[in-house]
Amino acid sequence: MNAKTINNQEIELKQALLEGLRIRLKGPVLLPGDSGYEDARTVWNAMIDGKPAAIVRCIGVSDVINSIQFAREHDLLLCIKGGGHNIAGLATANGALMLDMSLMRSVWVEPQARIAHAQAGCLLGDVDRETQVHGLATVLGFNAQTGIAGLTLGGGFGYLTRRWGWTSDNVIGMDVVTADAKLVRASSEENPDLFWGLRGGGGNFGVVTGIDYKLYPVGPEVVGGLVAWPASEAAGVLELYRTLAEHAPPELTLVALLRPAPPAPWLPKDMHGQLMVAILACYSGLPEEGEKIVAPIKAFGNPIGDVLVRRPYAQMQSMLDATQPKGRRYYWKSEYLSRIEPALCQKVMEHAAKIRSPHSAVILFQIGGALNQLEAEHSPVGNREARYVLNIAGSWEQADQDPVNMGWAREAWEDMKVFSTGGTYINFLTRDEGSERIEAALGKSLQRLAAVKAKWDPENVFRTNRNIKPQLVH
Ligand SMILES: Cc1cc2nc3c(=O)[nH]c(=O)nc-3n(C[C@H](O)[C@H](O)[C@H](O)COP(=O)(O)OP(=O)(O)OC[C@H]3O[C@@H](n4cnc5c(N)ncnc54)[C@H](O)[C@@H]3O)c2cc1C
Repeated sequence: MNAKTINNQEIELKQALLEGLRIRLKGPVLLPGDSGYEDARTVWNAMIDGKPAAIVRCIGVSDVINSIQFAREHDLLLCIKGGGHNIAGLATANGALMLDMSLMRSVWVEPQARIAHAQAGCLLGDVDRETQVHGLATVLGFNAQTGIAGLTLGGGFGYLTRRWGWTSDNVIGMDVVTADAKLVRASSEENPDLFWGLRGGGGNFGVVTGIDYKLYPVGPEVVGGLVAWPASEAAGVLELYRTLAEHAPPELTLVALLRPAPPAPWLPKDMHGQLMVAILACYSGLPEEGEKIVAPIKAFGNPIGDVLVRRPYAQMQSMLDATQPKGRRYYWKSEYLSRIEPALCQKVMEHAAKIRSPHSAVILFQIGGALNQLEAEHSPVGNREARYVLNIAGSWEQADQDPVNMGWAREAWEDMKVFSTGGTYINFLTRDEGSERIEAALGKSLQRLAAVKAKWDPENVFRTNRNIKPQLVH
C-alpha cells in the first residue's frame, strides 16, 4: 500500500469502518472523542502529537490477530504502542490503527528454570517486580516506565549489561503475530531467522505478544545511587569516573552526568538549578564488596549530596524515573564510545555549561563487559565494540523553547561526535535522524535484516518504526 494523505473525508470513512472492528475484539476500540482516547494516543515525548484514526487496546493475542487482519482488509496503516517511550514517537502515526499493548502486562516466572514470560505490554518495572520476588532479574534499562518491547527489540542496556550483554542477548524466545496475521514462535529452534531479526531489528517483522527472558540471581539488595558535587569539581570527578570505569568489574556500572541540580530533597536548596556533576553507580554483586568498591567515589572531594547506599534492586531500577517524566519535550543526540578520553571530558564540561533548560543533561553511560564478548553477527544490534554511550539529553517544557534546546543538543553533538565509534543506539534516535543514522546504528546487519523483512513482511505492513525495506539478497 502506498502512503496516503489523510484528509477529513478519509478519516470519516475509516471511522465508519472501524466501528466494524469492535465486534471482532475483546478489548476496547477508542475513536477520537472517546473517553481514554487522548491518554492512549499520547506518547512520552510531548514533541510528538500523533492522532491515530482508532486505538485498539489489545487484551490478548486474538485481538492482535484480528486487528492486523482488519487493517490489511481495509488498507489501514498500523502502529504499535508498547510503553510509548520511544523518543522519536514511533508508537503513533496520524490516521493509523494503533495497537496499544498496555493492557497486556502479565509476567510469569519459572524460578527453577530461571525464565520470565512477559506479555509485550509490560513496562520494565512490571518484570523487575515479579522476578525480584524470586531474587532474580534480567538485563533491563535505567527507567522502570520504559516498555520492554521497544527496548528489547532495539537492543536494550542497563545496570546488568556488563554482566550479561544487551537485553536482546538474554531473550530465549518471542511470540509474534506476523504480517499475515499468524501467531509464530521465534527462538533459536523455531524460525531462527526471525529470532535473529527481532533482536535489534525493532518492530519490523510483526507484533510481539510475549517475550521470554533468561534470569540471573540479583539482589534483593545492591549498592547503588548517586554522589553529586558542584560543577567546579567536574574536572576531578570526570577523571575519577574515567579511571574507575576503565578498571570496573562487570558487576559495577558507572554513569557520569552533568546537569542543573534538580530540586531533590537530598541536594541542598541553594544548589537547586546550579550546574552539578554526579556519578551514578550500581554494584549488583555482593553488597559488602560493593561498599568497598564504591568507597573512592564517596570519599572524593566535597560532595553536595550522597545517596549511594545499599538499596533494593527494584528501587535502583526506578531511581531515575522522576527525572524524565512523560509529557515534557525531549531531543537527544547519542553516540557509542570505545573509551573516555580526557579531551572528551573537557568537551562534556564545556557543553554542559551551555545547557539551556533546568532538565537537560550530558550523560556518559558505561556499557561494555559481556556485551563486548559476543560476535558482531550474534544479533543485528551489533556495536560489540561499544563501551560507553554518550547521551546529550535535551529536556524542557515549552514549545517556544524548542529552537534553543534543540540547537544546544545539536551543537554539542557536532562538537563531540568525533569521539564516536561511528555507531549509535537505534533506540536513542530522534525523529529527524534518517537513513544514515539507521545505518550507523545497524551497520553491517542491514542487508541481512532486509532479507528477513522480505520473508516475513514483504509488503512492509509494519513500517511505523525504523523501517527496513524488504529486499531479497541474491
Ligand atoms: C526516559 C527513557 C529512558 C530510557 N532508558 C533506556 C535504557 O536505560 N536502556 C535502553 O536500552 N533504552 C532506554 N530508553 C530507550 C528505549 O529503549 C526506547 O525508547 C524504546 O523504544 C522504548 O520502548 P517502548 O515499548 O516504550 O516504545 P514505544 O514507543 O511504545 O515503541 C517503540 C517502537 O517499538 C515498536 N513496538 C513496541 N511494542 C511492540 C510490539 N509489541 N511488537 C512490535 N513492535 C513493537 C513500536 O512500533 C515502535 O516502533 C529509554 C527511553 C526513555 C524515554
